[in-house]
Amino acid sequence: MARAPRGTAGQADTSPRPAKKEKGERSPAMLQFFRAKEQYPDALLFFRMGDFYELFHDDAIVAAKALDLALTSRQKSADGEDIPMAGVPHHAATGYLARLLEKGFKVAICEQMADPKTVKGIVPREVVRVVTPGLALDPDALDAQRDNLLVVLVTGGAESALASLELTRADLRVCTVRTPAELLGELVRLDPREVLVVGDAQEIVQRTLPRARVVTISPLVDPLARIRELLGDPEAERAERLLDERARQAVALALAAAKESQPRASLGVRTLSTYDPAAFLALDDAAIRNLELVTTLAGDRPGSLLALVDETRTSMGARLLRRRLLAPLAEVASIRRRHDAVEALALDPPARRELRRVLGDVPDLERLATRAELGVASPRDLGAIRAGLDAAELLRAHVFASSVAGDLVSMAAIDGCADVRDELSRCLVLELPLVATLGGIVRPGVDASLDELRTLEASSKDVLLALEASERDASGIGSLKIRYTRVFGYYIEITRTNLGLVPKHFRRKQTVANGERFTTDALEDLQEKILHAEERARTIEQGLFEELRTRVGKQAGRIRALANAVADVDVHAALAELAQARGYVRPLVDDSLILEIEDGRHPIVESLSPAGTFVPNDVRVDAEGERMLVITGPNMAGKSTLMRQTALAAILAQAGSFVPAKSARIGLVDRIYTRVGASDNLGGGQSTFMVEMRETAAICAGATRRSLVILDEIGRGTSTYDGLSIAWAVAEHLEGVIGCRALFATHYHELCELERQRPGRVANFNVTARERSVDGQGDDVVFLHRLVRGGSNRSYGIAVARLAGLPEPVLARARRVLGDLERGAGRGGAEPVQTELFAGPRAVEPSPIEEELRGVEVDRLTPIDALNLVARWREMVRARR
Ligand code: ATP
Repeated sequence: MARAPRGTAGQADTSPRPAKKEKGERSPAMLQFFRAKEQYPDALLFFRMGDFYELFHDDAIVAAKALDLALTSRQKSADGEDIPMAGVPHHAATGYLARLLEKGFKVAICEQMADPKTVKGIVPREVVRVVTPGLALDPDALDAQRDNLLVVLVTGGAESALASLELTRADLRVCTVRTPAELLGELVRLDPREVLVVGDAQEIVQRTLPRARVVTISPLVDPLARIRELLGDPEAERAERLLDERARQAVALALAAAKESQPRASLGVRTLSTYDPAAFLALDDAAIRNLELVTTLAGDRPGSLLALVDETRTSMGARLLRRRLLAPLAEVASIRRRHDAVEALALDPPARRELRRVLGDVPDLERLATRAELGVASPRDLGAIRAGLDAAELLRAHVFASSVAGDLVSMAAIDGCADVRDELSRCLVLELPLVATLGGIVRPGVDASLDELRTLEASSKDVLLALEASERDASGIGSLKIRYTRVFGYYIEITRTNLGLVPKHFRRKQTVANGERFTTDALEDLQEKILHAEERARTIEQGLFEELRTRVGKQAGRIRALANAVADVDVHAALAELAQARGYVRPLVDDSLILEIEDGRHPIVESLSPAGTFVPNDVRVDAEGERMLVITGPNMAGKSTLMRQTALAAILAQAGSFVPAKSARIGLVDRIYTRVGASDNLGGGQSTFMVEMRETAAICAGATRRSLVILDEIGRGTSTYDGLSIAWAVAEHLEGVIGCRALFATHYHELCELERQRPGRVANFNVTARERSVDGQGDDVVFLHRLVRGGSNRSYGIAVARLAGLPEPVLARARRVLGDLERGAGRGGAEPVQTELFAGPRAVEPSPIEEELRGVEVDRLTPIDALNLVARWREMVRARR
């Protein structure tokens, strides 16, 4: 059958096409296809045929579009229709698979279960793996720097259960969240690639995680039975004791998805962990986004806090650091243990350098171990595990030798998996191939029959050389050579000029451009022996490799524990490096309600500013004293920067890092809330103001006395009076009812009044700027970025507008309007400045009443006229309401 050229990104299609007998809708192969498809109707089926994975029918149409493949067709089906077909070469399948997962597809992989050469009739085929984005295993489909999570969410009532599975770490956890806000926070923190939802939360989850694959599924009839089947009795009993029905469902469904994904392998997951989100510093989705912890607001990693602080040398370390930033601790002793470790390494640069040098050689042991466990590791993967275990051993020796402290102790104490290392060294050669079928994997001395075949192979090759020499001598053809190609096997090549000398016992095999190719009985015998020995050797080697992989896979749990310890050292060494390179200090974390930072800096803004130009600032808030700072000051002065750096310092400190400051005392923070800037969620049916109010509502509902709240302006998205009133009431609520530590930046200067009303609890600060007169306009402003006590009553908005390039006539008009407004406010005395904004148009253009008043000749007015006039004006005023 003719096929259109494949559009498979330059992959040459040189493979033989499937055997004729397998063609056609009713062919045994297509029956196999339909059987497999029936099992996995919601997956694209990659159906292995020779060197290709083929897709048929709708799958072909969908995949061709998604992967930009040429859509071809297969022999007509029984009803005369062409069967759409598309395919990818098997050696390049992981790349295509990764692209499908990126687009959120589920893919079932149906393999040939025997070598077609050795099978009479139809090759047996079976689905060996089902891959979805959350259960990917190929490095091509994974980001080495972040976890790859599948979350199962079971909702119903206010509470929800959330099971998260990291298949590459064989890690399964479950928690219960109590409110919708907590649920969204946890989802954003986990940032799964796939969410299976039981209940009606699909839409909200998809909106919260636009890039994830989100699918609604049905609950299991008997979740405990599934847990028992996949984790064994003791874990099922624990689940029965510790988990409610929702959590059991979530766990069982996560396990079931993993099992479906790896039907033939034993799952690495052996235990079930439960956790309470309250054990961590809670960051809601707004805080994670607004503080740009792991990505910028635009969604990129560069420019985020994580990108700045990530000095790790291993992928495991990078992933651990990311986890820690998103889930800082909320318990003093464990935080201090982390700081001890960072401090020890910060104070010992030579030890740190050495550790980091060795860390640079540790591959991704964690994911490699899981690949071995699930039977998908290549020979090169096992080689990488060997190298990783060697490096980890060296690392342990270094940690032993250096002054271990805090969490570093665990590395020194951990099991180094010496037996696995020895086994790998004993069995594997140094340079390993990518695939097991190529041979060249196992060392001599491991398996006697393999050695024997190899000797035979080698000696046969000697015999071959001897045969070549003797035929050359006997025939007198000096250029006679025995050569080999995969297609023709061994042959004797004779050039055209020597054809007359060819002996009788040579049989001609093929004519080529410059001569002829021959064979002899002796050569054919020898070929048989050599090829047979080679094939046998490869089969034995592949078997040995698979056995070795299974043995290593059985130890995957131990290797992963070691990998975790390596990651831990990596993170501590990286944070020590960061602290040294950027001048961060060890914070004092305690149980107080104080947050005090001396000469604090914003890590990212500082890193982007020319050296020495960032202005450090002091901040002190204390839930038992001055707990709310009302921060005013010009636009662009640095209010947001200051507030964010305060929140980031708390996050860094509780994650175990040093902080950018001269000194810092962080009384444990339980939650950080931010209400920053204007963002709208029009797609989600929410206006800018609605988003702002939702965030504010979440703060009022969730903040506790231990929380840190950052409010960068609230109430700006509505009318001034509404906004000011809301801002005022929220400030009073946070200060008076909740009593948390709060930084509140605002251009509503009226809020400075709170300091007078709540002395000792609210304090006014402003970030300074100096005005500089340009062309006598007085509206050029120099930002000093320094936080000082006291309120300010100017925003220098027009000066900033000028910097931003607003046209001069517009600026001139704005200055006049401002002057009028301020004069109006001055006349009003106690009236707040902003009040006059509403009267703005009148101050510039006289109102009808003013116009009329101006024209009244008072001397000529009778009393009754005056009364009528007043009555009419009153009507006008009433009508305006
Ligand atoms: P607005 O009221 O307009 O929102 P703001 O007062 O919140 O402004 P920021 O956004 O914090 O101002 O800061 C504006 C810019 O000033 C920052 O992008 C940064 O470049 C610079 N900046 C802020 N703080 C400092 C500082 N402490 N030292 C040096 N530069 C700073």
